Amino acid sequence: GLWDNMRKMVTLIDDLRDCGVQDYIKLPRICVVGMQSAGKSSLLENICGLDFLPRGDGVVTRRPLELRLVHIQERLQPWAIFKEVPEKKFTDFTKVREEIDRLTDSKAGQKKNILPDPIELTIWSPDCPDLTIIDLPGITLIPLKDSDQPDNIEEITLNMCRRYCEDERTIILCVMPASQDITTQRSLKLARQLDPDGIRTIGVITKIDIMGEGSDASKVLMNEEVKLRLGYIGVKNRSQQDIINKVPVQKALRQEEDYFANDPRYSGIPQDILGTRALIEKLTTVLYQHIRKCLPDIIKEIDTKADECEDKLKLLGTELPRDQKDKVQLVFNLLQDYTDGFKNTMDGKYDKNEA
Ligand code: GDP
Ligand code: MG
Repeated sequence: GLWDNMRKMVTLIDDLRDCGVQDYIKLPRICVVGMQSAGKSSLLENICGLDFLPRGDGVVTRRPLELRLVHIQERLQPWAIFKEVPEKKFTDFTKVREEIDRLTDSKAGQKKNILPDPIELTIWSPDCPDLTIIDLPGITLIPLKDSDQPDNIEEITLNMCRRYCEDERTIILCVMPASQDITTQRSLKLARQLDPDGIRTIGVITKIDIMGEGSDASKVLMNEEVKLRLGYIGVKNRSQQDIINKVPVQKALRQEEDYFANDPRYSGIPQDILGTRALIEKLTTVLYQHIRKCLPDIIKEIDTKADECEDKLKLLGTELPRDQKDKVQLVFNLLQDYTDGFKNTMDGKYDKNEA
């Protein structure tokens, strides 16, 4: 049914990505943007249902992480492969986290500098949806003390987000903590600049659980403050204390469900805009519709590219012979052409000299 079609579409786009088409033609994808510590990496772990991302206090994500999630039917142990180390199959996700740290430090250095060169990671799991999501380094306004971050860190981080999100085929997942007023969010401002009609921006409100007493996020979630056509979803990720206590992701997801089910502040809000599960459903449907919308143009672009390549191939002339005799003939012909050409120029020179 519908779900099968969605999977096929997403897989088709991933197959194209595997062929390297993304380098020439923009393919639909989801990019996560937000200020430093907004909860982007925590959110991604919830979406994947796996503990594997470095997250926590300070600047943690320092290279974009292109995350390809592949849903598998069988209840197998999840596994992961990095493009930079294709020979290694990871089944221990603590090792995946260490490898992300290692790949970050080896390219971006240990002193908190940020780099645009992405880490590409594919994860196969029965618990994850079929999605391609990019975790971007957070928008940072001021360089961290004793770090290698340059003074223009704001410009650098903003430009990185801009480069990924300006493409019309990218869905912007704008992650914002509930503790901060929505109208002061730098990431939402950027999203509005890149997507003025708000047709490819989804708002995610995190840290709902640590809002001040007496306040709640319902107005924002109900699209009553800054309107986004695709709307908002509220989530509760693991807190820093949960990280310290090593609360596993599956338990955190149950706690999130309980939280929204029991907090009277959110009892009046439709359940389909609350929680990670709702977010996954929204992302999958939006990505599917988006791919369907973009596909005719993508096919056209691929056709044009293919024609261009054919033309270039033709310019290269005829194929080289395989046969020994034909090869000798070819060399002979080339020599003949060369001596003819040589003779003509000499004749030309001779004529000129005489004149
Ligand atoms: P990123 O920089 O946007 O990737 O943010 P992280 O996912 O690394 O999270 C930054 C900090 O905020 C971590 O200590 C998280 O535990 C905490 N955090 C993220 N989301 C939530 C949330 O929904 N509730 C609470 N209480 N803490 C959160
Ligand atoms: Mg992060």
